[in-house]
Amino acid sequence: MFELIDLHTHSHHSDGALAPADLVARAALRKVTVLALTDHDTSAGCEEALAACRKLGVGFVPGTELTAGWRGQEIHVVGLGVDPTAPLLAAQFADILARRRARIAAIGQKLSREPQLAGEDPSAAVLASPAVPTRTHVARELVRLGLADSVQQAFDRYLARRKAGYVAQEWPDIAATISAITAAGGHAVLAHAHRYKLSHGGLKELCAAFRAAGGAGLEVSLAGTSPQDASRLASLARAYDLAGSVASDFHEPGLPWRPLGRFAKLPDQVVPILARLTPL
Ligand code: AMP
Ligand code: MN
Ligand code: MN
Ligand code: MN
Repeated sequence: MFELIDLHTHSHHSDGALAPADLVARAALRKVTVLALTDHDTSAGCEEALAACRKLGVGFVPGTELTAGWRGQEIHVVGLGVDPTAPLLAAQFADILARRRARIAAIGQKLSREPQLAGEDPSAAVLASPAVPTRTHVARELVRLGLADSVQQAFDRYLARRKAGYVAQEWPDIAATISAITAAGGHAVLAHAHRYKLSHGGLKELCAAFRAAGGAGLEVSLAGTSPQDASRLASLARAYDLAGSVASDFHEPGLPWRPLGRFAKLPDQVVPILARLTPL
């Protein structure tokens, strides 16, 4: 009845803090019954997460969160139930990784010219790590170098738009993104749609385009949404025939407003995406 599930989480294979097995252990402690690992632009942690889920009796859904673009806006598309070895998905990962690495290197170059950094390039350590590199990793490096007190402050001082270390980035379009997920046997879910800088009309057009391109779902029950946003997301799911997903977007234990696991029950007339998945 009050089953907890979570179809959007991160590990240290992207910008999460925990190893996949530690993430699973934490989810099991919270009595999560079905968990998806959805690292940014990789599914490298899924094998480890599956093994841990099997030991602890948690249902596992292999996934990823692909970075995409639509009308110049960055959009995130969660792929659920994907085969991580599918060639089109692997090609999508490789394409995005190349873009991310070039962007992080360019950010490092720009930052190294800032007087406070005294020639130091904070991207070097980020690019040496096996994790998918994100600006959050650069922010953590700036904190480690004593140039900011927190990740948020590193963004505010150096990495946010119009700051010295900002580099714009284009991402693959949503049609290619959805195709890569569906070709890997997965279901494409539009992530945290209420967080995009779009008017309500723009958001409706995005949902229509997403559905027309083969998108299957929309995150409807998310950690930290207002009641207004929650009801807006539920209406969009109904209007555009998108199944509802349930997502914490968990990254690290230090962010208590995004705990692992959410109640599985969705608003009336929103079809749960979980009904279309076969957890391993
Ligand atoms: P990237 O995918 O490399 O652009 O990194 C994006 C991540 O950086 C997001 O998932 C956020 O966690 C974080 N981020 C982006 N902008 C900000 C900001 N202005 N303040 C704090 N964190 C941010
Ligand atoms: Mn992230
Ligand atoms: Mn996201
Ligand atoms: Mn996420």
